Amino acid sequence: MGCGVIDNFVFGGLPMRVVFGEGALGQLGHEADLLGMRRVLVLCTPEQRVRVEGVAALLGPRVVGIFDQATMHTPVDVTERALSMAIAERIDGIVSVGGGSTIGLGKAIALRTDLPQVAVPTTYAGSEMTPIIGETSNGEKITERSPRVLPETTIYDVAMTLTLPPAVRATSGMNAIAHAVEALYAEERNPVISLMAEAAIAALASALPAIMAAPRDHAARREALYGAWLCGIALGAVGMALHHKLCHMLGGSFDLPHAATHAVILPHAVAYNAPGAPEAMGRIARALGAADAATGLHDLARRLGAPTSLRAIGMREADLERAAALALARPYPNPVPLDAVGIHRLLHNAFFGHAPDGWTTA
Ligand code: NAD
Repeated sequence: MGCGVIDNFVFGGLPMRVVFGEGALGQLGHEADLLGMRRVLVLCTPEQRVRVEGVAALLGPRVVGIFDQATMHTPVDVTERALSMAIAERIDGIVSVGGGSTIGLGKAIALRTDLPQVAVPTTYAGSEMTPIIGETSNGEKITERSPRVLPETTIYDVAMTLTLPPAVRATSGMNAIAHAVEALYAEERNPVISLMAEAAIAALASALPAIMAAPRDHAARREALYGAWLCGIALGAVGMALHHKLCHMLGGSFDLPHAATHAVILPHAVAYNAPGAPEAMGRIARALGAADAATGLHDLARRLGAPTSLRAIGMREADLERAAALALARPYPNPVPLDAVGIHRLLHNAFFGHAPDGWTTA
């Protein structure tokens, strides 16, 4: 695999420890000890409570409580309730067991306390690899970067992803791929992250259909989780572009589900960006084993049974106009300048689930 043209770049490695593999969760107590944790608060969503009690048992008497109210988009009032419990119990460490919502809550507590965190991801969202935190209050989501919020240790155990319902697995997988795709044309892209991003897309594009065909295929499960890890690194290492801007806007302003929105938008954002990022498109297509990046992503989403239209995930046609205006305001850096006609067309195609045909063909 060639790595393309090497331009000037900046690379900043993030300090993190990763324990990966089947049975890796057995290391949880040891990893907590390495961070000096004696009074741990375990975090999860209400849905995962029962399961997480089993994980908490691995920590034995180190656990002083389980807070099971983690919520999508990290509302500040939920964080404040968890924080009260953390202070009352004089905790010295956080163990977050869940997807991006639970890991987001752990980060929000760490932002305010600088306590160490162990993350045990159960989806492919990748938040555990990033120094990014998005918090919501009064209906507004504010995102910031801080080294405090990056979990010190992440334990990836395939067993934690076995229970992902197929629909969540598909959308969460497409959400992960989106991080790697945008890393390849990010303003701050660098050759090391690009290597990881291409390998990540290839791993997920091969593993996700294999898991669909054989849900108990552990080799495919490991490959998917490995790919998701690399995607998370890409997200944490370089800035994101149009696709993430659109998804943040659609999630924040129209309350659309996070991972499903990524699955719908990705092929369309890639088609829009294709004229400005030919090298990235070549690498994405190669990783997918497809002739064209956008079409390959659209086909993958369909094969996985992920939603392919905004209409199907709860958006109203009447909101398209406002969405386009919001998309054009305060744009992220992007390889193709934002153009009102092109953005309208992109959102229109995504709304109706049309094939991604790019703005240049308008
Ligand atoms: P999630 O954490 O909201 O989980 C979705 C649902 O799936 C929840 O009900 C959860 O209980 C359930 N679930 C999770 N894992 C499961 C499993 N293995 N088996 C059965 N059910 C399971 O979803 P998500 O997509 O992982 O996270 C989305 C949130 O993460 C958003 O708020 C997003 O903004 C944030 N996020 C942040 C970053 C970052 O870098 N800051 C990165 C990615 C996502």
